[in-house]
Amino acid sequence: MTLSMKAIQIKSTGGVEVLEYITIERPKITEPMDVLVKNNFIGVNFIDTYHRSGVYNLSLPAVLGREGAGIVESVGDGVKDIKPGDCVAYLGASSYAEYTKAPSSYVTKVPNGIDSRLAAASLLQGLTSWTLVTQSYEVKKDDWVLIHAAAGGTGLLLVQLVKNLGAHAIGTVSNDEKAKLAIAAGVKHVINYTTQNVVEEVMRITDNQGVHAVFDGVGKDTFEISLACARRLGSFISFGNASGIIPPFDILKLSAKNLKLMRPTLFKYIETEEEFKKYTAELFTIIKEGKLDIKIWKTYKLSDVKQAHQDLEGRKSTGKLILQP
Ligand code: NDP
Repeated sequence: MTLSMKAIQIKSTGGVEVLEYITIERPKITEPMDVLVKNNFIGVNFIDTYHRSGVYNLSLPAVLGREGAGIVESVGDGVKDIKPGDCVAYLGASSYAEYTKAPSSYVTKVPNGIDSRLAAASLLQGLTSWTLVTQSYEVKKDDWVLIHAAAGGTGLLLVQLVKNLGAHAIGTVSNDEKAKLAIAAGVKHVINYTTQNVVEEVMRITDNQGVHAVFDGVGKDTFEISLACARRLGSFISFGNASGIIPPFDILKLSAKNLKLMRPTLFKYIETEEEFKKYTAELFTIIKEGKLDIKIWKTYKLSDVKQAHQDLEGRKSTGKLILQP
């Protein structure tokens, strides 16, 4: 018998009009290590907008979405540590749906004390932030660290982690409401870039030294600003393109301060099952210890996905956006 489900599919790339709420066939277990999850909640990430608009390629038609949490419906023959009925969270493809099939290597049981909605909000941005501050640039006590979009989903997590590591976060935001959130999360200084000059403020705050590290998920619009804000021997970690792809640039620019420039992606830090398990265990521990507060901005019905994408791309949202099938 063929079972069906609701899902958000795109047949071509473009604006939110390409997002279609449709009925399609429910995925089936086909490989020994497959896990089929009935989604309770689905995390929305900026990467979903890149897939929708064509900034990153997907083969079409495609069901969007990279993470979710729910109850295991069935598992392949080779899966031993996860069973039907388990409450899990996962990273994978096609999570904007009632059911998602994910490889067991990217599925984790949700520990007691973390509910399904929080689990769906935690993995992608949480693992990104955690690997950024431990692997891309190892944040050290008393460092000055500049975080763009400090009130965003990833930004609010970076601010807390940087503070927990004993460093001083400077956050940029576009309005006063976001400034309050960034301050509550732990930034030492907040800069509203619509009314203040980011480079001048960073230099004033750091005695003209600049910051030890910049975490920049904004991309095109902030590239030159980030270069200017980094101190001599500093690190510029460019991890996203919310404002657009950074155009080719002259590598000699880095020699002005002997800067290190890196363009990391989470999936290269969790390529093996061991890496995924290690960082996920560390992340859940930090959350359970109360050291990382994941703020859910809004939960939308799956059928309201267009609004969720508009809010995220339109800089309306703060923290995490969630879909509910
Ligand atoms: P956010 O919640 O941070 O939303 C993006 C924020 O970026 C906005 O709220 C806005 O904050 C700021 N922004 C600045 N310019 C623009 C613009 N032109 N259009 C839209 N937003 C803009 O999103 P996420 O936390 O989901 O993602 C943040 C970044 O991190 C993205 O670039 C994403 O691709 C990247 N990322 C990278 C990963 C990786 O593996 N490398 C993994 C996860 C995320 P404000 O109004 O304050 O300017």
